[in-house]
Amino acid sequence: MRVAILGATGSIGRQALEVAAAHEDIEVVALAAGRDTEGLLRAAAAHDVHLLAIADATVARAAGITLGGPEGVLRLVAESGADLVLNAIVGAAGLAASLAALAAGADLALANKESLVAGGPIVLDALARSGRVLIPVDSEHSALAQCLAGAEDDAVESVVLTASGGPFRGRSVAELAEVGVADALAHPTWAMGEKITVDSATLMNKGLEVIEAHFLFGLSYDRIEVVVHPQSIVHGMVRLRDGALLAHVGCPDMRVPISYALTYPRRSATAAPRLDLTRAFSLDFAPPDTDTFRCLALARAAGIAGGGAPCVLNAANEEAVAAFLAGRIRFLDIAALVEDALDAVDSGLVVTLDDVLAADAAARLAVSRRLLAVVG
Ligand code: NDP
Repeated sequence: MRVAILGATGSIGRQALEVAAAHEDIEVVALAAGRDTEGLLRAAAAHDVHLLAIADATVARAAGITLGGPEGVLRLVAESGADLVLNAIVGAAGLAASLAALAAGADLALANKESLVAGGPIVLDALARSGRVLIPVDSEHSALAQCLAGAEDDAVESVVLTASGGPFRGRSVAELAEVGVADALAHPTWAMGEKITVDSATLMNKGLEVIEAHFLFGLSYDRIEVVVHPQSIVHGMVRLRDGALLAHVGCPDMRVPISYALTYPRRSATAAPRLDLTRAFSLDFAPPDTDTFRCLALARAAGIAGGGAPCVLNAANEEAVAAFLAGRIRFLDIAALVEDALDAVDSGLVVTLDDVLAADAAARLAVSRRLLAVVG
C-alpha cells in the first residue's frame, strides 16, 4: 500500500513514519511539512521517500524543493498515487489537503481534526463522492469508531469522549490568571505538538473533538458526552440502548490509533506498552468544569449553532493560541478572544470551500484587530 504523510515532521507524522517502517507492505511515497526542511529531508532520507513538499514557498525555494507553497502540498497529494493519505497537518491549513486526498481517490487517515471542525459538511460531501473511507487517528475517535463497529444506528444512545483534563485540571479561574506557556505545555499524559497541547490545557481540544465526533458519527450534540478521566487509559466509550457501556482501554500511545488507521481494517502488532493488569491502579471520572474551562462550552455552542460558527471558533482559537505561545496574551485571554470573534463574525452558512475560507479569514481578522486594540 502506498501512503503519503502530511505533517511528516510533527509529533503524529514522526510516529506514523515509525509505524509504517515496521510494515513491509507499506510504502511511504510522499512527505509534506510546513517549514522544517531539515526535518523533512532527514525523514525522506531515512525512509527513502523522493516526493516532497514544503508549505512555505520561500523556505521550499531556498531548499530547492520544487513542490512549494500550499499548492505544492496539494500537488504532492494529487501526484503521489497514494492509496492512503495520513493528514497530520496542524490547523485549518489541513482542510484543503483532506479534500485533495479524497479527490485523488485515496483513503483518508485523519489526525487533522480541524479539517472537520472548519469544513465538516464539505469533507463529508467529498467523502461520499469519493467512495473512499475516512479513518480517524485522534485516539478518542479511533476508540469510538472501534466500539461503534457493527452496532446498529438505533442501538447507540450516546458516545463519551474522555479528556485528561490537561495540566490545569482542578484549578480555579483565579489560579489560571498567571499560568505561563511552559505550564500550559506540560501535559500530564500525552507528548504532542504545541498547538494541541495548549488546546488540551484550555479544553478547547475536547471541544474541537466534540464537533469532530458530530461529523464523524452523525450524532446530535446532546448525544456526545465529555468526561474528565486523568489517567487517559479509557479512550472512548459508547452507551448502548440496553444500558451496556463499551469502552476502549489501553496505555496512552498514539502509535496504536496510527497503526489502526494505517492497517485498517486489519490489526497489526505495535511496540506500544501493554496495560499491566497485575498491578493495582484506579480509573477516575469526573464532569468537566466548563465554567473555568470556557473553551469547551464555547465549542459545543458553536457546534450546535452550526454553519460557519465552528470554523470561526477554530480560526480564532488558532490565532489566540499563537498569540499565547508568543507571549502576547495570558492564558485566560484565549477563551475571551474566541468568544469575541464568535460575537463579531457573522459566519452564515458554509457550502463551499470559499465560504469556509471567508469565515476563517474573518475570524482571524477579528482576533488580530482585538489584539491590536488590547496589546498593541
Ligand atoms: P505538530 O505541531 O507536532 O506537527 C504539525 C505538522 O504539520 C508539522 O509537520 C508541520 O510542519 C506541519 N505543518 C504545519 N503547517 C503546515 C501546512 N500549512 N502545510 C503542511 N504541513 C504543515 O502537531 P501534531 O503532530 O501534534 O498534530 C497534528 C494534527 O494531529 C493536529 O491537527 C492535532 O490536533 C492532531 N492530533 C495530534 C495528536 C498528537 O498526539 N500529537 C493526537 C490527536 C490528534 P513543520 O514541522 O515544518 O512546521
